[in-house]
Amino acid sequence: MLEVSDLRAYHGDIQALWGVGLRVERGEAVALIGPNGAGKTTLLLALMGLVRAEGRVLLAGRSILGLPSRRLVRLGMCLAPEGGRLFAEMTCRDNLLVGGHVLDRRRRLAALERVEGLFPRLAQRAAQKASTLSGGERQMLALGRALMAQPALLLLDEPSLGLHPLLAGQVFEAIGRIAAEGVTVLLVEQKVSLALRACQRAYVLENGRVTLDGPSALVAADEGVRKAYLAL
Ligand code: ATP
Repeated sequence: MLEVSDLRAYHGDIQALWGVGLRVERGEAVALIGPNGAGKTTLLLALMGLVRAEGRVLLAGRSILGLPSRRLVRLGMCLAPEGGRLFAEMTCRDNLLVGGHVLDRRRRLAALERVEGLFPRLAQRAAQKASTLSGGERQMLALGRALMAQPALLLLDEPSLGLHPLLAGQVFEAIGRIAAEGVTVLLVEQKVSLALRACQRAYVLENGRVTLDGPSALVAADEGVRKAYLAL
C-alpha cells in the first residue's frame, strides 16, 4: 500500500529525515516509534506533501511525492494530525462533514453514518462545539474526521497525546476497530507499549533514520527498545 525509500525531508535548511525506508502492506497496522525530535511527525508531513521532501514514495504503486495534500486525500491517504487540529468553533458534526468534503453529498452522508456508528459518542455530541469536548472526545473526533474521507491508508500522529491512560486505551480500542474494518494504518505514538500491541509491525526512528524494524513482538523484545521506551 505504501512504499517509502530513501526519504529525505527538510524544515527550511534543517534536514530532519536522512534516507528513511519503510513499507506498509494493505490491511496492516504499522507503528512508528522513537524519541522526541526523531522525525516521526516530519515523516507523516512529508508523506502528505506538507514539508519539502526528496526520495521515493509509492502509494498503491503510484509515485506521490510532491503531490498536494488534497490530491493525496482523493488518492486515499489521510492524516489525523498531532493535537487533532479541530475547528474549535464548529460543531462536532460539522468537523466530521469538513473531513468528508472530497465526497459527493450522498457518500458524505453515508460516511457520516458509518463514522458516527463507529464512535457513538460523536453522534451524542453532534451539536456541541469541538472546543467543549473532552480530550478523549477530541481525539475521537480527529480520528473520525480523518476517516470521513474514507481513506485506504490512515496516518495517525500521536492519537493518545495528553490523554489519561484510560482514555488512551479507548482511543486505541477505536484504532483497533478502524483497522478491523480494513483501513491500513501507520501510527506514530509515544505510548510505545500501546502502539506495539495495536500494530503488527514497527519501525524505530532515531535522529531521522530507521534503526530497527520488525514484527512488534520482536521490536518489543529488543534490549534497546525495552530500556529506552518500555522503561524495563
Ligand atoms: P515529537 O515526538 O516530539 O513530535 P518527532 O519524532 O515527531 O518528535 P519531528 O517533530 O518530526 O520529531 O522533528 C524532527 C526534527 O525536525 C527535530 O530536530 C525538530 O527540531 C525539527 N523540526 C520539526 N519541526 C520543525 C519546524 N517547523 N522548523 C524547524 N525544525 C523543525
